[in-house]
Amino acid sequence: MRAIVVTPETDAPYVREIERPEPAPGEALVRILRVGIDGTDHEVIAGGHGGYPEGQSHLVLGHEAIGVVEDPNGTGLDVGQVVVPTVRRPVEGGSTEYFERGEPDMAPEGHYVERGIAGAHGFMAEYVTSPAEFLVPVPSAFAETGFLIEPISNVEKALSLARASRSGFEWTPESAMVLGNGPLGLLSVGLLDAAGFGRLYCLGRRDRPDPTIDIVERLGATYVDSREHSLREISGVHEPMDLVIEATGHAPHAFETVDLLAPNGVGALLGIPGDHSLSLDAGRLHRELVLSNKALVGSVNSSVPHFRTALDTLAAFPDWLAEAVITDAFAPEAVESAFESDDDRIKSVIEFDTL
Ligand code: NAP
Ligand code: BGC
Ligand code: ZN
Repeated sequence: MRAIVVTPETDAPYVREIERPEPAPGEALVRILRVGIDGTDHEVIAGGHGGYPEGQSHLVLGHEAIGVVEDPNGTGLDVGQVVVPTVRRPVEGGSTEYFERGEPDMAPEGHYVERGIAGAHGFMAEYVTSPAEFLVPVPSAFAETGFLIEPISNVEKALSLARASRSGFEWTPESAMVLGNGPLGLLSVGLLDAAGFGRLYCLGRRDRPDPTIDIVERLGATYVDSREHSLREISGVHEPMDLVIEATGHAPHAFETVDLLAPNGVGALLGIPGDHSLSLDAGRLHRELVLSNKALVGSVNSSVPHFRTALDTLAAFPDWLAEAVITDAFAPEAVESAFESDDDRIKSVIEFDTL
Protein backbone atom coordinates (compact mmCIF):
# COMPACT_ATOMS: atom_id res chain seq x y z
CA MET A 1 0.00 0.00 0.00
CA ARG A 2 1.03 3.62 -0.48
CA ALA A 3 2.36 5.69 2.41
CA ILE A 4 3.95 9.14 2.58
CA VAL A 5 7.28 8.97 4.35
CA VAL A 6 10.31 11.03 5.25
CA THR A 7 13.79 9.56 5.56
CA PRO A 8 17.06 11.06 6.79
CA GLU A 9 18.49 10.92 3.23
CA THR A 10 15.81 13.12 1.66
CA ASP A 11 14.56 16.54 2.63
CA ALA A 12 11.09 16.07 1.12
CA PRO A 13 8.34 13.53 1.79
CA TYR A 14 7.63 10.95 -0.91
CA VAL A 15 5.32 8.00 -1.61
CA ARG A 16 6.72 4.61 -0.64
CA GLU A 17 5.13 1.16 -0.95
CA ILE A 18 4.97 -0.42 2.48
CA GLU A 19 3.23 -3.49 3.80
CA ARG A 20 -0.40 -3.15 4.79
CA PRO A 21 -0.55 -3.46 8.62
CA GLU A 22 -2.32 -6.35 10.35
CA PRO A 23 -4.36 -5.34 13.41
CA ALA A 24 -3.09 -6.87 16.65
CA PRO A 25 -5.62 -7.97 19.31
CA GLY A 26 -7.47 -4.87 20.55
CA GLU A 27 -6.67 -2.98 17.37
CA ALA A 28 -8.94 -2.14 14.44
CA LEU A 29 -7.87 -1.75 10.81
CA VAL A 30 -8.77 1.69 9.45
CA ARG A 31 -8.95 2.70 5.79
CA ILE A 32 -7.67 6.25 5.67
CA LEU A 33 -9.76 8.85 3.86
CA ARG A 34 -7.98 12.17 4.39
CA VAL A 35 -4.94 13.47 6.29
CA GLY A 36 -4.31 17.17 6.86
CA ILE A 37 -0.96 18.95 6.85
CA ASP A 38 0.01 21.55 9.46
CA GLY A 39 2.97 23.62 10.62
CA THR A 40 4.17 20.73 12.80
CA ASP A 41 4.53 18.45 9.74
CA HIS A 42 6.82 21.04 8.17
CA GLU A 43 8.84 21.22 11.38
CA VAL A 44 9.12 17.40 11.45
CA ILE A 45 10.27 17.34 7.80
CA ALA A 46 12.85 20.05 8.52
CA GLY A 47 14.15 17.96 11.45
CA GLY A 48 13.29 20.63 14.04
CA HIS A 49 10.69 18.57 15.91
CA GLY A 50 9.84 14.90 16.48
CA GLY A 51 11.81 11.92 15.23
CA TYR A 52 11.88 8.42 13.76
CA PRO A 53 10.46 5.31 15.38
CA GLU A 54 13.18 3.51 17.31
CA GLY A 55 15.48 1.49 15.06
CA GLN A 56 13.81 2.70 11.86
CA SER A 57 15.05 5.03 9.17
CA HIS A 58 11.72 6.25 7.86
CA LEU A 59 8.68 7.92 9.37
CA VAL A 60 5.19 7.72 7.91
CA LEU A 61 3.91 11.29 8.31
CA GLY A 62 0.45 12.49 9.27
CA HIS A 63 -1.37 13.12 12.53
CA GLU A 64 -4.59 14.91 11.47
CA ALA A 65 -6.61 12.06 10.02
CA ILE A 66 -10.03 10.68 9.31
CA GLY A 67 -10.71 7.14 8.24
CA VAL A 68 -13.27 4.38 8.20
CA VAL A 69 -13.18 1.09 10.08
CA GLU A 70 -12.39 -1.67 7.57
CA ASP A 71 -11.91 -4.51 10.06
CA PRO A 72 -13.07 -4.02 13.66
CA ASN A 73 -11.13 -7.15 14.62
CA GLY A 74 -13.35 -7.82 17.64
CA THR A 75 -12.93 -4.34 19.12
CA GLY A 76 -16.66 -3.53 19.20
CA LEU A 77 -16.40 -0.88 16.50
CA ASP A 78 -18.63 -1.36 13.44
CA VAL A 79 -17.41 -1.89 9.91
CA GLY A 80 -17.89 1.43 8.09
CA GLN A 81 -17.74 3.55 11.28
CA VAL A 82 -15.98 6.83 10.51
CA VAL A 83 -13.26 7.54 13.07
CA VAL A 84 -10.65 10.15 13.98
CA PRO A 85 -7.49 8.72 15.57
CA THR A 86 -5.81 10.48 18.47
CA VAL A 87 -2.07 11.13 18.26
CA ARG A 88 -0.29 9.92 21.41
CA ARG A 89 0.50 6.31 22.21
CA PRO A 90 2.39 4.76 25.15
CA VAL A 91 6.10 4.05 24.79
CA GLU A 92 6.65 0.35 24.29
CA GLY A 93 7.77 -1.10 27.61
CA GLY A 94 7.33 2.26 29.37
CA SER A 95 4.88 3.61 31.93
CA THR A 96 1.23 3.85 30.89
CA GLU A 97 0.17 5.92 33.90
CA TYR A 98 -1.06 8.95 31.96
CA PHE A 99 -2.81 6.77 29.39
CA GLU A 100 -4.61 4.80 32.07
CA ARG A 101 -6.10 7.95 33.50
CA GLY A 102 -7.13 9.15 30.03
CA GLU A 103 -4.68 12.07 30.03
CA PRO A 104 -1.91 11.13 27.58
CA ASP A 105 -1.74 14.80 26.59
CA MET A 106 -0.38 15.56 30.07
CA ALA A 107 2.36 12.91 29.94
CA PRO A 108 5.89 14.29 30.20
CA GLU A 109 8.36 13.77 27.37
CA GLY A 110 9.69 10.22 27.31
CA HIS A 111 6.32 8.80 28.40
CA TYR A 112 4.66 8.87 24.98
CA VAL A 113 5.24 8.70 21.26
CA GLU A 114 3.24 10.76 18.76
CA ARG A 115 2.01 9.15 15.57
CA GLY A 116 3.39 10.87 12.51
CA ILE A 117 5.50 13.21 14.64
CA ALA A 118 7.72 11.58 17.23
CA GLY A 119 8.73 7.95 17.46
CA ALA A 120 5.71 6.31 15.78
CA HIS A 121 4.41 6.04 12.24
CA GLY A 122 1.54 8.34 11.34
CA PHE A 123 -1.62 8.15 9.33
CA MET A 124 -0.54 9.14 5.79
CA ALA A 125 -1.10 5.66 4.42
CA GLU A 126 -3.91 3.75 2.78
CA TYR A 127 -4.48 1.70 5.94
CA VAL A 128 -3.46 2.09 9.58
CA THR A 129 -4.12 0.10 12.72
CA SER A 130 -4.91 1.51 16.14
CA PRO A 131 -6.24 0.34 19.49
CA ALA A 132 -9.96 1.13 19.47
CA GLU A 133 -9.61 3.35 22.56
CA PHE A 134 -7.67 5.85 20.40
CA LEU A 135 -10.29 5.96 17.63
CA VAL A 136 -12.99 8.57 18.16
CA PRO A 137 -16.22 7.73 16.27
CA VAL A 138 -17.71 10.61 14.28
CA PRO A 139 -20.81 10.80 12.05
CA SER A 140 -20.16 10.02 8.38
CA ALA A 141 -21.21 13.59 7.48
CA PHE A 142 -17.72 14.58 8.67
CA ALA A 143 -15.85 12.22 6.31
CA GLU A 144 -14.36 15.18 4.41
CA THR A 145 -13.81 17.73 7.17
CA GLY A 146 -13.30 15.52 10.25
CA PHE A 147 -9.51 15.56 10.05
CA LEU A 148 -9.85 19.12 11.41
CA ILE A 149 -11.04 17.61 14.70
CA GLU A 150 -7.44 16.88 15.78
CA PRO A 151 -6.17 20.49 15.49
CA ILE A 152 -9.43 21.86 16.92
CA SER A 153 -9.03 19.45 19.86
CA ASN A 154 -5.63 20.99 20.59
CA VAL A 155 -7.32 24.38 20.95
CA GLU A 156 -10.15 22.89 23.05
CA LYS A 157 -7.55 21.63 25.48
CA ALA A 158 -5.75 24.99 25.59
CA LEU A 159 -9.03 26.76 26.25
CA SER A 160 -9.96 24.34 29.02
CA LEU A 161 -6.58 24.88 30.72
CA ALA A 162 -7.02 28.64 30.35
CA ARG A 163 -10.53 28.50 31.83
CA ALA A 164 -9.30 26.24 34.66
CA SER A 165 -6.62 28.78 35.55
CA ARG A 166 -9.38 31.41 36.01
CA SER A 167 -11.78 29.15 37.87
CA GLY A 168 -10.81 30.49 41.30
CA PHE A 169 -12.88 33.65 40.78
CA GLU A 170 -15.77 34.94 38.69
CA TRP A 171 -14.22 35.29 35.23
CA THR A 172 -16.50 36.51 32.44
CA PRO A 173 -14.27 36.91 29.39
CA GLU A 174 -15.57 39.03 26.54
CA SER A 175 -12.58 40.02 24.42
CA ALA A 176 -10.19 37.52 22.89
CA MET A 177 -7.32 37.66 20.43
CA VAL A 178 -5.82 34.80 18.46
CA LEU A 179 -2.18 35.34 17.48
CA GLY A 180 -1.58 33.80 14.06
CA ASN A 181 -3.73 33.35 10.97
CA GLY A 182 -2.34 29.98 9.96
CA PRO A 183 -4.69 26.98 10.02
CA LEU A 184 -4.49 26.62 13.81
CA GLY A 185 -5.11 30.33 14.32
CA LEU A 186 -8.12 30.37 11.99
CA LEU A 187 -9.61 27.26 13.61
CA SER A 188 -9.09 28.98 16.97
CA VAL A 189 -11.02 32.05 15.78
CA GLY A 190 -13.80 29.71 14.59
CA LEU A 191 -13.80 27.91 17.94
CA LEU A 192 -13.95 31.14 19.98
CA ASP A 193 -16.72 32.44 17.73
CA ALA A 194 -18.67 29.20 18.25
CA ALA A 195 -17.98 29.50 22.01
CA GLY A 196 -19.74 32.87 22.01
CA PHE A 197 -16.86 35.33 22.30
CA GLY A 198 -18.42 38.55 21.07
CA ARG A 199 -15.31 40.67 20.58
CA LEU A 200 -12.73 38.70 18.62
CA TYR A 201 -9.42 39.72 17.05
CA CYS A 202 -6.84 37.84 15.00
CA LEU A 203 -3.22 38.87 14.51
CA GLY A 204 -1.40 38.30 11.21
CA ARG A 205 1.23 39.93 9.03
CA ARG A 206 -0.38 39.80 5.60
CA ASP A 207 -1.52 42.41 3.08
CA ARG A 208 -5.03 42.41 1.70
CA PRO A 209 -6.40 40.76 -0.39
CA ASP A 210 -5.73 37.58 1.52
CA PRO A 211 -7.93 34.52 2.07
CA THR A 212 -7.05 34.26 5.77
CA ILE A 213 -8.07 37.89 6.40
CA ASP A 214 -11.31 37.18 4.52
CA ILE A 215 -12.06 34.28 6.90
CA VAL A 216 -11.25 36.37 9.99
CA GLU A 217 -13.57 39.15 8.83
CA ARG A 218 -16.33 36.80 7.68
CA LEU A 219 -16.35 35.42 11.22
CA GLY A 220 -16.97 38.97 12.43
CA ALA A 221 -13.49 39.23 13.97
CA THR A 222 -11.10 42.17 13.56
CA TYR A 223 -7.86 41.55 11.66
CA VAL A 224 -4.83 43.17 13.33
CA ASP A 225 -1.50 43.50 11.49
CA SER A 226 1.54 42.84 13.69
CA ARG A 227 3.63 45.01 11.36
CA GLU A 228 1.57 48.07 12.32
CA HIS A 229 1.48 47.65 16.09
CA SER A 230 3.52 45.75 18.64
CA LEU A 231 1.53 43.52 20.96
CA ARG A 232 2.19 46.04 23.71
CA GLU A 233 0.47 48.79 21.69
CA ILE A 234 -2.51 46.70 20.62
CA SER A 235 -4.35 46.84 23.93
CA GLY A 236 -4.34 50.67 23.63
CA VAL A 237 -5.30 50.74 19.94
CA HIS A 238 -8.06 48.11 20.28
CA GLU A 239 -8.66 46.89 23.83
CA PRO A 240 -6.94 44.71 26.44
CA MET A 241 -7.81 41.04 25.92
CA ASP A 242 -9.40 38.76 28.51
CA LEU A 243 -8.07 35.77 26.57
CA VAL A 244 -5.19 35.33 24.14
CA ILE A 245 -4.53 32.17 22.16
CA GLU A 246 -1.03 32.15 20.69
CA ALA A 247 -0.76 30.14 17.47
CA THR A 248 2.17 31.75 15.65
CA GLY A 249 5.11 29.85 17.09
CA HIS A 250 6.87 33.26 17.18
CA ALA A 251 8.67 33.05 20.53
CA PRO A 252 8.49 36.76 21.55
CA HIS A 253 4.69 36.51 21.41
CA ALA A 254 4.72 34.28 24.48
CA PHE A 255 6.05 37.15 26.58
CA GLU A 256 4.39 40.04 24.72
CA THR A 257 1.06 38.33 25.47
CA VAL A 258 1.40 39.58 29.05
CA ASP A 259 1.07 43.17 27.79
CA LEU A 260 -1.86 42.31 25.57
CA LEU A 261 -3.89 40.86 28.44
CA ALA A 262 -6.46 42.71 30.50
CA PRO A 263 -6.15 42.45 34.29
CA ASN A 264 -7.17 38.89 35.34
CA GLY A 265 -6.68 37.70 31.74
CA VAL A 266 -5.06 34.51 30.56
CA GLY A 267 -2.89 33.65 27.59
CA ALA A 268 -2.74 30.09 26.24
CA LEU A 269 0.41 29.32 24.28
CA LEU A 270 0.24 26.70 21.53
CA GLY A 271 3.09 27.60 19.16
CA ILE A 272 6.20 25.43 19.12
CA PRO A 273 9.13 27.72 18.30
CA GLY A 274 12.75 26.90 17.60
CA ASP A 275 15.39 28.41 19.88
CA HIS A 276 15.08 32.19 19.94
CA SER A 277 17.03 34.57 22.18
CA LEU A 278 15.65 37.97 23.01
CA SER A 279 16.18 40.70 25.51
CA LEU A 280 13.21 41.74 27.61
CA ASP A 281 12.38 43.58 30.81
CA ALA A 282 11.69 40.50 32.90
CA GLY A 283 11.02 42.58 36.01
CA ARG A 284 8.26 44.54 34.33
CA LEU A 285 6.61 41.42 32.91
CA HIS A 286 6.90 39.52 36.19
CA ARG A 287 5.41 42.49 38.05
CA GLU A 288 2.59 42.78 35.52
CA LEU A 289 1.73 39.07 35.85
CA VAL A 290 1.60 39.35 39.62
CA LEU A 291 -0.01 42.74 40.18
CA SER A 292 -2.67 42.17 37.51
CA ASN A 293 -3.42 38.52 38.34
CA LYS A 294 -2.53 37.45 34.80
CA ALA A 295 -1.76 33.88 33.75
CA LEU A 296 0.11 32.18 30.93
CA VAL A 297 -0.48 28.50 30.23
CA GLY A 298 1.32 26.30 27.76
CA SER A 299 -0.71 23.55 26.14
CA VAL A 300 0.10 20.65 23.88
CA ASN A 301 -1.83 17.78 22.32
CA SER A 302 -5.29 16.67 23.50
CA SER A 303 -7.15 13.62 24.77
CA VAL A 304 -10.38 11.86 23.75
CA PRO A 305 -12.79 14.26 25.57
CA HIS A 306 -11.19 17.20 23.72
CA PHE A 307 -11.75 15.34 20.42
CA ARG A 308 -15.43 14.95 21.34
CA THR A 309 -15.78 18.64 22.16
CA ALA A 310 -13.93 19.46 18.94
CA LEU A 311 -16.51 17.45 16.99
CA ASP A 312 -19.25 19.63 18.53
CA THR A 313 -17.27 22.74 17.66
CA LEU A 314 -16.77 21.61 14.06
CA ALA A 315 -20.50 20.91 13.85
CA ALA A 316 -21.21 24.42 15.19
CA PHE A 317 -18.94 26.13 12.63
CA PRO A 318 -20.77 28.15 9.98
CA ASP A 319 -21.30 26.02 6.83
CA TRP A 320 -18.65 27.78 4.80
CA LEU A 321 -15.79 27.73 7.35
CA ALA A 322 -14.26 24.25 7.00
CA GLU A 323 -14.42 24.54 3.22
CA ALA A 324 -12.71 27.95 3.33
CA VAL A 325 -9.89 26.61 5.55
CA ILE A 326 -9.35 23.44 3.48
CA THR A 327 -8.07 25.18 0.37
CA ASP A 328 -6.29 22.31 -1.38
CA ALA A 329 -6.79 18.53 -1.69
CA PHE A 330 -4.16 16.29 -3.30
CA ALA A 331 -3.83 12.66 -4.30
CA PRO A 332 -0.92 10.93 -2.51
CA GLU A 333 1.08 10.96 -5.77
CA ALA A 334 0.97 14.78 -5.74
CA VAL A 335 2.87 14.75 -2.45
CA GLU A 336 5.44 17.29 -3.67
CA SER A 337 2.79 19.93 -4.40
CA ALA A 338 0.86 19.04 -1.25
CA PHE A 339 3.72 20.18 1.00
CA GLU A 340 4.36 23.45 -0.85
CA SER A 341 3.20 26.67 0.81
CA ASP A 342 1.91 29.92 -0.62
CA ASP A 343 -0.28 32.75 0.59
CA ASP A 344 -3.41 31.44 -1.16
CA ARG A 345 -3.12 28.09 0.53
CA ILE A 346 -4.35 27.60 4.10
CA LYS A 347 -4.83 23.91 4.86
CA SER A 348 -3.80 21.18 2.42
CA VAL A 349 -5.13 17.69 2.74
CA ILE A 350 -4.01 14.41 1.20
CA GLU A 351 -6.95 12.34 0.06
CA PHE A 352 -6.28 8.60 0.04
CA ASP A 353 -9.89 7.57 -0.49
CA THR A 354 -13.52 8.65 -0.19
CA LEU A 355 -16.35 7.05 1.77
P1 NAP B 1 1.66 27.88 10.60
O1 NAP B 1 0.98 27.44 9.34
O2 NAP B 1 3.13 28.03 10.62
O3 NAP B 1 0.96 29.24 11.02
C1 NAP B 1 1.55 30.23 11.81
C2 NAP B 1 0.92 31.56 11.42
O4 NAP B 1 1.41 32.57 12.28
C3 NAP B 1 1.22 31.96 9.99
O5 NAP B 1 0.03 32.28 9.32
C4 NAP B 1 2.13 33.17 10.14
O6 NAP B 1 1.91 34.18 9.17
C5 NAP B 1 1.69 33.71 11.50
N1 NAP B 1 2.77 34.49 12.12
C6 NAP B 1 4.03 34.09 12.39
N2 NAP B 1 4.73 35.09 12.95
C7 NAP B 1 3.88 36.15 13.02
C8 NAP B 1 4.01 37.47 13.49
N3 NAP B 1 5.16 37.94 13.99
N4 NAP B 1 2.94 38.29 13.41
C9 NAP B 1 1.77 37.84 12.92
N5 NAP B 1 1.59 36.60 12.44
C10 NAP B 1 2.63 35.75 12.51
O7 NAP B 1 1.30 26.87 11.76
P2 NAP B 1 -0.08 26.26 12.31
O8 NAP B 1 -0.25 24.90 11.77
O9 NAP B 1 -1.18 27.24 12.15
O10 NAP B 1 0.33 26.10 13.84
C11 NAP B 1 0.72 27.23 14.60
C12 NAP B 1 1.78 26.85 15.64
O11 NAP B 1 1.18 25.97 16.60
C13 NAP B 1 3.00 26.08 15.08
O12 NAP B 1 4.12 26.47 15.84
C14 NAP B 1 2.65 24.61 15.38
O13 NAP B 1 3.78 23.80 15.51
C15 NAP B 1 1.94 24.75 16.70
N6 NAP B 1 0.97 23.71 17.04
C16 NAP B 1 0.91 23.37 18.34
C17 NAP B 1 -0.03 22.48 18.78
C18 NAP B 1 -0.12 22.16 20.23
O14 NAP B 1 -0.79 21.19 20.60
N7 NAP B 1 0.51 22.95 21.09
C19 NAP B 1 -0.94 21.92 17.87
C20 NAP B 1 -0.84 22.26 16.51
C21 NAP B 1 0.12 23.19 16.12
P3 NAP B 1 2.39 34.01 7.61
O15 NAP B 1 1.61 32.84 7.08
O16 NAP B 1 1.94 35.27 6.97
O17 NAP B 1 3.84 33.76 7.65
C1 BGC C 1 -0.14 18.06 17.05
C2 BGC C 1 -0.26 17.59 18.47
C3 BGC C 1 1.13 17.34 19.01
C4 BGC C 1 1.97 18.59 18.87
C5 BGC C 1 3.40 18.40 19.38
C6 BGC C 1 0.74 19.27 16.99
O1 BGC C 1 0.81 19.68 15.66
O2 BGC C 1 -1.40 18.40 16.48
O3 BGC C 1 -1.06 16.44 18.52
O4 BGC C 1 1.08 16.94 20.36
O5 BGC C 1 2.02 18.98 17.51
O6 BGC C 1 4.10 17.45 18.68
ZN1 ZN D 1 -0.86 19.24 14.47
